[in-house]
Amino acid sequence: MVSGLVFGLGAALGSFLNVVIYRLPQGLSLLYPPSHCPQCHTRLKPYDNVPILGWLWLGGRCRHCKAPISARYPLIEGLTGGLFLVTFWGWGLTWWTVAYWILLAWLIALAFIDLDTLTLPNPLTQSGLVVGLLAQAMIPYLQTGSWSNGLRGLMAGIIGAVLGIWLFEGITLLASLALGQTAMGGGDAKLAAMLGAWLGWPGVLLSGFLACLVGALVGGGAIALGVISRRHPMPFGPFLAIGALLTLLWGDTLIATYRSLFFPTL
Ligand SMILES: [Zn+2]
Repeated sequence: MVSGLVFGLGAALGSFLNVVIYRLPQGLSLLYPPSHCPQCHTRLKPYDNVPILGWLWLGGRCRHCKAPISARYPLIEGLTGGLFLVTFWGWGLTWWTVAYWILLAWLIALAFIDLDTLTLPNPLTQSGLVVGLLAQAMIPYLQTGSWSNGLRGLMAGIIGAVLGIWLFEGITLLASLALGQTAMGGGDAKLAAMLGAWLGWPGVLLSGFLACLVGALVGGGAIALGVISRRHPMPFGPFLAIGALLTLLWGDTLIATYRSLFFPTL
């Protein structure tokens, strides 16, 4: 029952993220006009606007003009709902769960905007960084009532953000040496700073490593299969988002395993 509510909440937010992903890069208002068919501009009826189900019972077409509506809309709604649920199962109903829901919403918006436009909008990465630092400072305080714990959390977030930027300068340098071209956009460093604020320095290191790993596998696979050419620009933001997601879900286990393998005495 609660799981259903959490999924529904995530799917409803996913529906709003669709609007953000579509309109924010174009500089359009997020609130006005309400959802409409991109083809004939007919407003969606409230019952057609229900996350996932609306798309299903319309058969993926506009009720009015029958223009196809991308399956990406219900997929993003389902993805957001699913990730909300996994977070809820992992942390229960806590402040951190709510904070991670916010982080996930930002990551989904950033990943898909980067896929579409090869940019990571500053308003999103910068606000994500600020919200991350706020969460790092506020949640320890709310949990323990001690400001010194809040201050410690804030410091961890700031150190993570600074390391995120350094890490990125390093990756950019290595990648441009390897590929002989500038590989990263400036938005990637800002996203790395945002992840550092949320996940701390071990978390941002692990996210960056996993992002490179998954990116190399997917990019290498796509080049090998002839889906894209070697010179094809590839967004890195989605891989950073995947790295951050894996770190969020399994980071502690991965870091503990790594330690016990290479530094068993620490
Ligand atoms: Zn239409």
